[in-house]
Amino acid sequence: MGHKEDVPQHITAKALADRVRSASCGFELVLLLDYDGTLTPIVDRPDDAHLSAETRQVLCDLSARYPVAIISGRDRHDVQKRVGLGSLYYAGSHGFDIAGPADNSFSHIEGTEFLPEIRQTITSLEGNLAELPGVLVEGKTYSVAVHTRLAADTDIPAVEKVIAETLKKHPRLRTKKGKYVVEFIPDIDWNKGYAAMWLIERLQPANSTVFPVFLGDDQTDEDVFAALPDNGLGIMVAQKPRPSKASLRLGNTSDVVGFLKMIAAQQP
Ligand SMILES: [Mg+2]
Repeated sequence: MGHKEDVPQHITAKALADRVRSASCGFELVLLLDYDGTLTPIVDRPDDAHLSAETRQVLCDLSARYPVAIISGRDRHDVQKRVGLGSLYYAGSHGFDIAGPADNSFSHIEGTEFLPEIRQTITSLEGNLAELPGVLVEGKTYSVAVHTRLAADTDIPAVEKVIAETLKKHPRLRTKKGKYVVEFIPDIDWNKGYAAMWLIERLQPANSTVFPVFLGDDQTDEDVFAALPDNGLGIMVAQKPRPSKASLRLGNTSDVVGFLKMIAAQQP
C-alpha cells in the first residue's frame, strides 16, 4: 500500500514472465488486467477497440489455470461482450459493477443511486457539445465520457468550459481525466483500486496467499497500482517512461500479449 511515484523501469515480456514465475512460486497467481490500451491498442473511437482472436485464446488458456479479471472503465456488459469469455471475472465502470463467471453470488455494485443523475448529464453534455466536431460523448451506465482525441485543438477550451459548467450543475459527480478523455463519475470513495482489492480478497483460496499482478496503461489504473499489496506487482503499459505507482513498464500491447502467452505456456 502507498507506493511512491517513480519512473518504472522498462522490462521485456520475457524478463517479466521469468520474474512473475519466480515471484509467484508458492503463491496463487491472480491476473488483473485493464482492457483499452492494455489488451487492445488505443484507437480513435472506443467502439473500435476489438480484442484479437490470439489475445482471447491466451486469456481463455490462462483462465483455466488462474483467476483472471478484467478491470475496465467500460460498462461491464460492454467489456464482457468484447472479451467474450465466460470464464473470467469482470469489473466494469471503473469497478462500480463486478461480476464473476456464471455465478450470481459473485457480484458487487456501487453507486446505483447516481444513475438518474448520470443519465441527465449524458443528455446535457450531448446537447452542449453537439456543435463541436470530433468530440465524442460516450454515455455509459455509471459514467459519461467526453473523448477529445479527434477534436481540433482550437475547440478544447470550449470543451473545457462545458465540462466545468456541467460539473457545477452536478456537484455529486466528479471528473476523472485520462488520455484525451474526461469522464464524469459518482463522487464516492470507490475506484478501480477498491475493485481490485475486493476481487483479490474473494479470489484468495483458503490457506494460501495470492500473488496479484495488475497491468494497466492509464491514469485511472494508478488507483490499482497504489492499492496493490506489497506481495503484488503493478505493471504499466507505456511506450515512453513516465512517473507511476507501478513497479515496472512494458512497452506496448504486443508485449502484454507476449507476456501472457509465456505465463500460459509455463508448466503447472
Ligand atoms: Mg486503459
